[in-house]
Amino acid sequence: MEKWCALRFFSRRGSETWTARFPGSVQRLRIEPNVLDHVRRFRQSKLSAAEAGGQLFGTVTSELVQVSGVSGPHRGDERSRYSFRSDPRAAQRKINRFAARGLAYLGEWHTHAEEIPRPSGSDLGAIREIVDRSQLNTSTVVLLIIGLAEPDADVGVWYVGPLGDFLSLT
Ligand SMILES: [Zn+2]
Repeated sequence: MEKWCALRFFSRRGSETWTARFPGSVQRLRIEPNVLDHVRRFRQSKLSAAEAGGQLFGTVTSELVQVSGVSGPHRGDERSRYSFRSDPRAAQRKINRFAARGLAYLGEWHTHAEEIPRPSGSDLGAIREIVDRSQLNTSTVVLLIIGLAEPDADVGVWYVGPLGDFLSLT
C-alpha cells in the first residue's frame, strides 16, 4: 500500500533530480528532472514495446556535468525489444541544434526491457567509439539506461574512466 502511494506521488510530481559523484573526482553528474521524465516515458512496460533512445545534452564545469537536454527517439532509429541504434543523421541534427543553444553533447540514453539495467557489449562498444572520436574528456560522455524497476532503481549510468575502463555511477 505504501509503495503504491509512493508511485502515485511520483507520477504526480514528476522525477527528482538524479545526482552522483564521479569516483576519485570532485566532479558530479546531475540529471535534471525534465530529462528523466522524458526517458521514463519510453519505459518498456508493455511486452511489445521496443527499446527507445537518443542523445543527452548539457553543460560541463570542473565541478558539474549537468544533463539538462534530451533528444530522441528519432524516426530512423533501429529499434527492437532488445536492441537500439540511433539514426546517426537525426542525432547529428539534434547535436547541432542543441549546440546552437549552448548545450554540448554529453552522451546517449536508451531503455532496456529488464528491471535493473545493465549495458550490453554493443552498448559499451558504441560509447567507447563515441569517446574515441570526440574531443571531450572521457567522463563527460555518459551512457544512461532506463530499466523497468521503480525510480530510482531503474537508472543506470556508465562512463569510460581515465584508464579506459567502463565505470558505473549506480
Ligand atoms: Zn542496451
